[in-house]
Amino acid sequence: MTFVADPVTALSNADISEADRSRVFHSWSAQGSLAPMPIVSGSGSVVWDAEGNEYLDFSSQLVNVNIGHQHPKVVQAIREQAELLTTVAPAHANATRARAAKMIIELAPEGFEKVFFTNGGADANENAIRMARLVTGRDKVISRYRSYHGNTGAAIVATGDWRRIPNEYARGHVHVFGPYLYRSEFWATTEQEECARALHHLERVIQAEGASTIAAILLETVPGTAGVMTPPKGYLAGVREICDRYGIVMILDEVMAGFGRTGEWFAFHAHDVTPDLITFAKGVNSGYVPVGGVIISDAIAHHFDDTVFPGGLTYSGHPLAAASIVAALGAMREEGIVDNAKRIGAEVIGPRLAELAERHEIVGEVRGSGVFWAIELVSDRESRTPVTPATMGVIKAALLSRGLLPFIADNRIHVVPPCVVTDAEAHRGLDIIDAVLADVARG
Ligand code: PLP
Repeated sequence: MTFVADPVTALSNADISEADRSRVFHSWSAQGSLAPMPIVSGSGSVVWDAEGNEYLDFSSQLVNVNIGHQHPKVVQAIREQAELLTTVAPAHANATRARAAKMIIELAPEGFEKVFFTNGGADANENAIRMARLVTGRDKVISRYRSYHGNTGAAIVATGDWRRIPNEYARGHVHVFGPYLYRSEFWATTEQEECARALHHLERVIQAEGASTIAAILLETVPGTAGVMTPPKGYLAGVREICDRYGIVMILDEVMAGFGRTGEWFAFHAHDVTPDLITFAKGVNSGYVPVGGVIISDAIAHHFDDTVFPGGLTYSGHPLAAASIVAALGAMREEGIVDNAKRIGAEVIGPRLAELAERHEIVGEVRGSGVFWAIELVSDRESRTPVTPATMGVIKAALLSRGLLPFIADNRIHVVPPCVVTDAEAHRGLDIIDAVLADVARG
């Protein structure tokens, strides 16, 4: 792995940052105070800025680069597909797209035969909700507080032709509390109590809303950005039972948790549950080309055998995305990349984080699996008061200055390196976090 400078622009870090900041309207940011960090190249678990400074990527960008940066087989597949055909309308048949769908379905439980491709995770969830509404003839969607499912929703409501109907999305959303023992909403002290009470709460909300009005329950299998809260044993199976009891479609959002992140191909594989719809994006091709989709159970897919599904996207099943999926999933299988994530979580990251939690007073809780972990930081262990945003800013800057690119959310450091991270890299990153927490404690 060596630094490769950008041969096209050959600009300095400051030039790139300014050129970007001044012209690009950035996501989730106040535009006035931006100083975006340049990244010009990467390899595996590391990235470089324009001046050759190396960073260990403990963010996997937006927790999507599961296969690591610039995997040669995926880059090659994109190149080859680009030479053959770079775009094709969704209505045509395309062998690469069919192959990508087949490879995804092979990872899904039995009873899933079809994939609807989207451009990313948000529109995967939009379309899954649309399917659930059309199949059930119901309106409301239950999801949990402390979740993230994507940033779209108004576009189809603004649409003024026939495609608007029946796709008015911004309606009928109901939120519930999910299980999160460390900050329990249910006064629970054990995982079993938390699980039972969260399920009871969910069922009571369904009854209060009117079960016959609820189309879907949409849950991240493991809520990611909201804090990496692995559900207690039995929670998702309990949700499945509730869905069956009331005729509700169960949608599991595997956009962040899927394709190796938790150490499983799908996070729900560890929970003995089968949903009706599975949404995915990110890790399916590690974001080399934007793509997402919905894996559809046969019962729902067959609903549309003789009924038009009123939905589609110009780039649904884009050939470059499809080629990158085929290559990424092939390489992940051949190279045991999901197994690596599972092993390194169990043998390196988990034990080291547990040990950090013992030594550092500022650590309230560590939790996760595979390469999907959160370190929750508190100013007082007793009250579990989150550390301030200012403290998190100091921590972020200190991690960067020591060569670690972190994923910070609220009062948490998420430890989310690529699934290909090596033992040595994992130790190096955890050493940096350890040192920075010690610095913060010293003030
Ligand atoms: N669902 C989950 C669980 C996510 O983490 C994200 C993005 O982080 C999304 C959906 C939205 O995906 P996208 O940003 O590709 O639209």
